[in-house]
Amino acid sequence: MQEQVPLALSRFYAAISDLGSSAPEAHKFRDKTVALISSSSAISSRNARYILLSSIRLLSRLCGQITVHLPEAALEAKSECEALSELEGVEFFYESSSFCDYRKYDAVLCVENFDSEVNHEGTITFVGSYRWLAQISSKPIRLPQEDCDFNPIAAYGAACIAVADVFKELLQVKATRASKLDDLCFSFYSLSAGLDGGASLKGTRASRMLLIGAGAIGSAVAYILREMPLYGLLDIVDYQKYGIENLATTIYLNRHDIGKSKSAVAANYASNHLIAVGHEAKLEDWLRTNQSPLPIVLAALDNIPARHFAQQSIWPDILIDGATGSFLSQVIIHRWSATDPCLLCLFEEPVKSSDADQVAAVATGLSVTRATQRHSNVTVDDVNAAPVAQREWLKQRIGKEICSVIQEGIASSISSESQPSTFAPAAPFVAGLSACMMVASLYRYLEAQAPEFNRFQFDALIGPAAGQHYKEVPKPGCVCQTRRTNIEAFRNNQF
Ligand SMILES: [Zn+2]
Repeated sequence: MQEQVPLALSRFYAAISDLGSSAPEAHKFRDKTVALISSSSAISSRNARYILLSSIRLLSRLCGQITVHLPEAALEAKSECEALSELEGVEFFYESSSFCDYRKYDAVLCVENFDSEVNHEGTITFVGSYRWLAQISSKPIRLPQEDCDFNPIAAYGAACIAVADVFKELLQVKATRASKLDDLCFSFYSLSAGLDGGASLKGTRASRMLLIGAGAIGSAVAYILREMPLYGLLDIVDYQKYGIENLATTIYLNRHDIGKSKSAVAANYASNHLIAVGHEAKLEDWLRTNQSPLPIVLAALDNIPARHFAQQSIWPDILIDGATGSFLSQVIIHRWSATDPCLLCLFEEPVKSSDADQVAAVATGLSVTRATQRHSNVTVDDVNAAPVAQREWLKQRIGKEICSVIQEGIASSISSESQPSTFAPAAPFVAGLSACMMVASLYRYLEAQAPEFNRFQFDALIGPAAGQHYKEVPKPGCVCQTRRTNIEAFRNNQF
């Protein structure tokens, strides 16, 4: 398939190839048509406008034909959309929503509230947000919409979940893999389903913060931080420059940014309430020049060694780690003062060994013990015990005999070793959801309302209501435990 895939879409195609036969229309989704619509009453709220503009950005990275329908009354939103449409190359139609013939589109996303003038016949994904709540439904949304309740985390999260729902429609994802969302109301504050919108965002002063990585997740963190009422300094460190392959996964990127420093573009974007500074450098080099304490670290990294290095070279008060698999979104919080496992406890380096069972375990995500049980079948427990990056792949193989899964895993690990990293699976809405959870965790930390759990993860196609909270404990043999006194001395020296 990859011969025909434009480089800009390579990472998204790598993600959808993991869906296999669960997405029968995956090969032709680029030929399908999507309409994005709203009503004048909905678009008068800042939440709805942010969802609309974010949805244009998300959809235009992946879809070939998007039509935006806006009512005549939505003048401000119309001009914002027109400017964005030009940038993203989106077809823009200016007409009254009530005249939109939804049946001529393969999927319709409607940013809406309940007193809509939208005629909602046919299959439409409705989306809205209010304070910390994101609502996605097959029926019109019934959340209140007031400007003072703008929350970019829930609004962007709502856009990401709704766009994931649109992709299920375009790819015709089978219900056995993930069914369309019927009526989801999800709080990005508690990271659970429910109807409690929580409190409005308050202006908050943050101590100095460090964002490591400005790829798919880091760019989405910068995108949300731009709208957050947080004040302070943000350093962004990334040694790479944006390439074509980043276009589909980086929410604010356009073709003029290709070749520019990732950290500089991200810092430019995030600077609004915060003062953000980009550093085009490897973390180890930047840390040697940095003289200031780094109490808050946001890690948007895509590999285990980089996570280990960030954890043990800084040991901040809080480290918030965002991760993605093909469709898995995850956040991990490590608070030095709490009994949270650190990133060294939670991310283990793959074993380099010639032992056949260990090689099989590394290639499949199965434990070494399970890899020896060749005639047993893969279970849900195997998937839950697997490293995060391999869960999506292993999940597709539940019920299959372990010996055949090992053969397949070794074959694909060999082929992926020869692939450039540009083909690492990524979808912007999956990375966006990790970023939402990271910024929500940051805000909760700043207002001293830490959650009970240290990790939350969910499948972005199934939706966050089925997500898992984990309260894990550190590994007794990890350096965060065995060398705690030394690390404490190191921290005292730093802070
Ligand atoms: Zn540890």
